Amino acid sequence: MEKVYDLAIIGAGPAGMTAAIYAARASLSVVMIERGAPGGQMVNTFEIENYTGFETITGPELSMKMFEHAQAAGAEYAYGNVENVVIAEDGTKVIDCGDHQIHAKTIIIATGTKHRLLNVPGESELSGRGISWCAVCDGAFFRGKKVVVIGGGDSAVEEAIYLAGLVEKVTIVHRRDELRAQKILQKRAFADEKIEFVWDSVVESFEEANGKLGAVKIKNTKTGEISEIEADGAFIYIGLDPITDMIKELGVTDDAGYVKVDHAMMTPVEGVFAAGDVISKELRQVVTAVNDGAIAAQSAFKYIETNLR
Ligand code: FAD
Ligand code: NAP
Repeated sequence: MEKVYDLAIIGAGPAGMTAAIYAARASLSVVMIERGAPGGQMVNTFEIENYTGFETITGPELSMKMFEHAQAAGAEYAYGNVENVVIAEDGTKVIDCGDHQIHAKTIIIATGTKHRLLNVPGESELSGRGISWCAVCDGAFFRGKKVVVIGGGDSAVEEAIYLAGLVEKVTIVHRRDELRAQKILQKRAFADEKIEFVWDSVVESFEEANGKLGAVKIKNTKTGEISEIEADGAFIYIGLDPITDMIKELGVTDDAGYVKVDHAMMTPVEGVFAAGDVISKELRQVVTAVNDGAIAAQSAFKYIETNLR
């Protein structure tokens, strides 16, 4: 007989791991299913300075603390790349991980988001040969060199500041003349002598030199002028899209692909909850992911107590 968990959580970022802690402490049998490393986006974040209780903590350290906490509470951890979720006739959620399936009475979708692509010539060809979406992973390759950061949000500005500590020069290319990032990050970036800004500009293409990235071709949106910035590296931070392809059949997403939930993190489908960056909401942070995870687990617990006991 296949084991049927009380709760299966897809994704072990801060939302999923917090849900696991709350569910395990409520005596639910719970498994976190993760295709990468526990921690989600925190794994690739150098320093986190806005998570309550920690003036500063590295992303990998906070990831490990949350993971150890979830395991100590009794949550199971399983490797799996969830490809599909279907609901059996008796209401059991069948989670298809390709080579194996996991069964659960309830699920929490906590799959977060993925980096958006620019979709310009040279981007895919030079990916891993100068173009990256992770400064913490790849920044060290560009020590003493020149890099371009594309975007104007928290990610672009924060990662540009991190890169400025390693490289000779960072050029931030932004499509407007005003940043979207938090003021505290803006202040730091403007004060950093290694960071230069190119405003009102979009990337036309990434140009190759000797098999690697050599330059970023940009266009000024106001004048139409085309120019090139010499660069050994380019980091693309133009926003994120929700990871919801595996739950398409459930019909719980909005037009942008985010999961629709109510105040209890419940989707329109019975026994299906969601938490963290993947839900439709205003503020995507570690602290809000953790909040959603706790509420979703509590709602799953109440759903089981009310309907399935
Ligand atoms: P995620 O952290 O994205 O975790 C989702 C998990 O689900 C991932 O581990 C993923 O592998 C897994 N997953 C996805 N699909 C599947 C699947 N099909 N099968 C199995 N597993 C799957 N927030 C702050 O508060 N402070 C910061 O300083 C900060 N810095 C940031 C820096 C950067 C560069 C970025 C991009 C984000 C930053 N954030 C920061 C935002 C913060 O990281 C997110 O809000 C938070 O991680 C969201 O948590 P989550 O659990 O919802 O999703
Ligand atoms: P974001 O806030 O959506 O910002 C994306 C940036 O890229 C914007 O400046 C946007 O320009 C620009 N952009 C979008 N599409 C573009 C395109 N096709 N070409 C050129 N530029 C484009 O994304 P993010 O910065 O990755 O942040 C995502 C979430 O994570 C946010 O909720 C953020 O607060 C959170 N986060 C938090 C921290 C932190 O707390 N320290 C750090 C990183 C991320 P416009 O401004 O013109 O729209």
